[in-house]
Amino acid sequence: MTTPEHIPEHVKVCIIGSGPAGYTAAIYAARANLEPTLFEGGGAAIEPFTLPGGQLMITTEVENYPGFPNGVQGPGLMDLFKAQAQRFGTRVRTADVTAVDLSVRPFRVTASDGTIVAESLIISTGASAKWIGLPSEKKFQNYGVSACATCDGALFKGRDLVVVGGGDTAMEEATFLTRFATKVILVHRRDEFRASRIMVDRARLNPKIELMTNTVVEEILGDLPKPGVTGVRLRDTRHHSTREIKAGGVFVAIGHEPNSQLFRGVLDMDPNGYLLTKPGSTATKIPGVFACGDVADHKYRQAVTAAGTGCMAAIDAERFLAHHH
Ligand code: NAP
Repeated sequence: MTTPEHIPEHVKVCIIGSGPAGYTAAIYAARANLEPTLFEGGGAAIEPFTLPGGQLMITTEVENYPGFPNGVQGPGLMDLFKAQAQRFGTRVRTADVTAVDLSVRPFRVTASDGTIVAESLIISTGASAKWIGLPSEKKFQNYGVSACATCDGALFKGRDLVVVGGGDTAMEEATFLTRFATKVILVHRRDEFRASRIMVDRARLNPKIELMTNTVVEEILGDLPKPGVTGVRLRDTRHHSTREIKAGGVFVAIGHEPNSQLFRGVLDMDPNGYLLTKPGSTATKIPGVFACGDVADHKYRQAVTAAGTGCMAAIDAERFLAHHH
């Protein structure tokens, strides 16, 4: 079927994002005969490049996704999600959505490979870990630098580790990592922690954790491909003195950013940019627009919870379309 160039393709469901939330929404929407179109990203139109498959593509072994008692590789799991969505007729487009017009329905979705109009929209654009911004941090990603202790902690048994950050996530990750690490040094740039008192106390009371304040990681040291990270160079923010310490891994826990830039000023967000949905639903304030996964969840941020809300979004979209035709 060909569509004349000036008439954009018209779909019932458009899904933006290709992590567990997006693909689960696609599986459900496709099985409901809604023939969804899913933009997976990777169109190189957005800087930094979007990553088809989402955050699981930058992790290695996933041990906590139910149904895989022996674990599964993150990218392999996303291949399975995609294959299952395509099996039921999801059209996957390798393109970045660069603009949306939600002022009238059908909604207009402009992507790096063209424009479509959609009766309903499911937003599953995820979140991205924040990074310190050091070239060495990038260089050692997957070779000792991680932004997810829950994902990668178990791979660091018996090593000294550095955690960067002073919020609840940093405290939680440092505490979690003591299950595997011989020692965890938490490095924070100020002398006061942003984390809640109880989380700081828990970390402080843990004999394996050392809290180092007024300190930043200036460089991550090591060699590729082996042994990967071997240490870090730290800088004291008051005296500007530097020193090197040994470490077998660095966990950056300085927060996440929801990928919600496209919807600024259009959809309601919390102060950190997470999309707001009606309680117990994935509905946003615009009828026919639904949000699921990490872009609307700063609390759980797990593949399985993202998949769960993706399922909810597809069911919400299906019911919406049944009532608005
Ligand atoms: P966050 O509260 O924004 O804290 C980020 C931390 O990273 C801050 O201490 C910040 O330092 C530091 N940081 C930011 N950019 C940095 C940089 N470029 N270099 C060095 N340090 C940097 O983020 P979060 O800890 O991920 O928490 C996010 C939300 O989730 C919070 O509302 C938190 O309460 C919640 N959360 C709750 C739990 C729980 O209750 N169990 C667990 C995890 C997260 P400054 O303090 O100097 O700005």
